Amino acid sequence: MKIRTRFAPSPTGYMHIGNLRTALYEYLIAKANGGDFILRIEDTDQKRYVEGATDIIYATLKRVGMNWDEGPDIGGNYGPYIQSERRNIYAEYAHKLVELGGAHYCFCSKEDADEQKDEEQNIKFQDPCKHLSLEEAKARVAAGEPYVIRQTINKTGKSKYHDEVYGDIEIDYDELDEGVLLKSDGLPTYNFANVIDDHLMEITHVVRGNEYISSTPKYNLIYEDFGWEHPHYVHVPPVMKDAQHKLSKRNGDASFQDLVAKGYLPEAIINYIALLGWNPGNDQEIFSLDELKKIFSVERLNKSPAIFDITKLTWMNGCYIRALPLEEFHKLAMPYYKECLSRKADEEFLSKVLQPRVEVLGDIPNQIDFIEQVKDFSNDLYFNKKMKSDVEVAKKTLAEAKNVLVEADVWTNEALFEKLKALAETLGVKNGQILYPLRIALSGKETTPGGATEIAVILGKEETINRINQALARL
Ligand SMILES: [Zn+2]
Repeated sequence: MKIRTRFAPSPTGYMHIGNLRTALYEYLIAKANGGDFILRIEDTDQKRYVEGATDIIYATLKRVGMNWDEGPDIGGNYGPYIQSERRNIYAEYAHKLVELGGAHYCFCSKEDADEQKDEEQNIKFQDPCKHLSLEEAKARVAAGEPYVIRQTINKTGKSKYHDEVYGDIEIDYDELDEGVLLKSDGLPTYNFANVIDDHLMEITHVVRGNEYISSTPKYNLIYEDFGWEHPHYVHVPPVMKDAQHKLSKRNGDASFQDLVAKGYLPEAIINYIALLGWNPGNDQEIFSLDELKKIFSVERLNKSPAIFDITKLTWMNGCYIRALPLEEFHKLAMPYYKECLSRKADEEFLSKVLQPRVEVLGDIPNQIDFIEQVKDFSNDLYFNKKMKSDVEVAKKTLAEAKNVLVEADVWTNEALFEKLKALAETLGVKNGQILYPLRIALSGKETTPGGATEIAVILGKEETINRINQALARL
């Protein structure tokens, strides 16, 4: 049997991290087993529809390399892949289910249903229409009375099914409510559409949030009523913000797009979220998508919720940035240079110095702001116990360093470093007593990406001398 999984997002215009992780697990289950990964757009809830949102879904999946085998844009043998284009299919099956006794026509208004339902006491809606004869109900439908199609649950006892993560699940049929399957506008609810689509598209493994564990028996009843086999279920725990709260758009938690905009690499995000709920069984933490495709297994999915730890993601992102070829890093860093640098600087050398020190691309402007301009700083910055530097030392060594640098004709890190080292020997001071004050004079900052001579190379000779002069004037 060929494994077939589907990612079925709603076009909300927002790629939630939890949804992306679900997509990833669906993709990996298919690809680890030579199967197909299908993209289906669940747009039957027209209230939630956002213009252009499907493009965000396409762009996100493409960006992370999760290519789908069938979908709205590329077609396939099981289309259409957009639920709103399948409305006739749902209607046909909903009416068929009524004939099979698995559903019934309901003429109650939404208010009737709401009035009877008591959320606090958890009283189930007892639909009077359930007891109408099929002929009578059909006559009312034929007469043009508005209706919905509601699931009929006559079974008693316990519903049982197996979940690949949570094991055997048992739920009382009594606890299941007879929800609407087909709305009065002729569109299906999620509860119905997911069953019909998964069956017709021959989906073998359904991956979704564990909040669906308790409604799955309702879906299984629909499969049974049609005489169909239900798919394998893989319910996954939520991605949490902290011990109590799920990650959510409402709370302003970062989406995939937000993280990318902050300078997280898509590869790092995918790697990180793969490990939010799955473990490889060893200490390895860095995995490419291709590696994950080879080793992913449902058996190693966790039952307990995972907390989204931005510090861990940031660390992992730093690993990915350091592993990039320099040219690649330079290309990614350029937009940030453009954003904050108007003066001439040796940008290629800057990238070389910066790459090992960047964890998130969005931090680059903060790290390099001194290149554009030295902010006003206190001379106290020259004091550094470890470097044996203070204002007096700075006064003396900056002037000497300037004389050496003015004479320098080769402006490279190595050449400048050798010259200043030789100067330290001549003056009988430690290297740090020259390099530390020089770095402060050139940057005005205690921490910088790169040492004094590296910064001198980035700034160029003229600006380096200018800044030393300005610093000396303030000492
Ligand atoms: Zn009713």
